[in-house]
Amino acid sequence: MRSALSTLELVRARSLAHALEALHDSVANGRLTPLAGGTDLFVYLNAGTLAGTRFLDLGPLAELARIRPRKGAVTIGSLATFRQIRTHPVLRSRFPSLVAAAAEIGAWQIQSRATLAGNIANASPAGDSLPVLLAHDAVVRVRSVRGPREIAFDRLYRGYRDLDLAADELITEIELPEPPAGARPFFRKVGTRRAQSISKVVFCGLAAVRKGALEGVRLAYGSVAPVPLRARNAEQALEGRAPDAAAAAAARAALERDIAPIDDIRSDREYRMTVAGNLIEQFLRATR
Ligand SMILES: Cc1cc2nc3c(=O)[nH]c(=O)nc-3n(C[C@H](O)[C@H](O)[C@H](O)COP(=O)(O)OP(=O)(O)OC[C@H]3O[C@@H](n4cnc5c(N)ncnc54)[C@H](O)[C@@H]3O)c2cc1C
Repeated sequence: MRSALSTLELVRARSLAHALEALHDSVANGRLTPLAGGTDLFVYLNAGTLAGTRFLDLGPLAELARIRPRKGAVTIGSLATFRQIRTHPVLRSRFPSLVAAAAEIGAWQIQSRATLAGNIANASPAGDSLPVLLAHDAVVRVRSVRGPREIAFDRLYRGYRDLDLAADELITEIELPEPPAGARPFFRKVGTRRAQSISKVVFCGLAAVRKGALEGVRLAYGSVAPVPLRARNAEQALEGRAPDAAAAAAARAALERDIAPIDDIRSDREYRMTVAGNLIEQFLRATR
């Protein structure tokens, strides 16, 4: 059943300090739920599946929506939308996989509201930006009244929809280090159709080829386990090898130890295993 709007309370953040105080004070007494673009929260509200009735509107915190490139890294504010990301000239040239993921999240309407931190904190294993952040060794910066904290992206998810984030912490920004020189990016989302579908498998790869051998291989997946993950065994199977069919077969075999897809409403285990291996083949072809 839909949640009745009259029972909901909205606190508008006046500043980051005010937001953190309000969030902290609310923990013991009707926790405020951070509200960014609302594209996930409104779905839960509409379905009547949201436990909280008190919201902290982060919208006024314009300083959290900035994208700041510098030498060697780009810092993306937590409130940056996927529209900002897909149209940002530096991200387009330096982080094309993130731009590709942003361009495949919903349609323009969703991209204009949905934020990067919302995708991260919603913690769906199918979140399309998450494998990109994993493959790029992103760092998530969070803040509470106790101060700031950094979390390596591959340590953020402890289990299905379970984040290493305290109830009074806000994600403030995401840092993306520049990939190693020569690394070639690859992103692919596989769904029921080319646009506006939820991922059956989503993949981001990154590797350089030096003197015919793969170097610095990173393979990250979503929708193939309870959390988005790096396929470390498959990465090892590829490191130092030529990007050929034999390497792809070795990585496909190793992938069995990395991922654990399930049968669900969107797909089944067998299909997801096959697609996950096919994506490595496509990635290797793209690096040649
Ligand atoms: C029609 C439709 C299509 C969609 N298509 C896709 C798709 O193709 N791919 C995809 O990955 N997703 C998709 N989504 C899901 C959604 O758009 C994304 O997950 C989006 O990034 C959520 O961001 P938001 O700002 O709207 O988050 P909100 O709904 O505002 O919040 C989501 C969660 O994050 C928390 N949160 C938000 N900001 C912070 C912060 N700074 N610190 C701590 N917690 C925070 C909130 O409390 C909440 O728990 C779709 C949704 C809809 C409705």
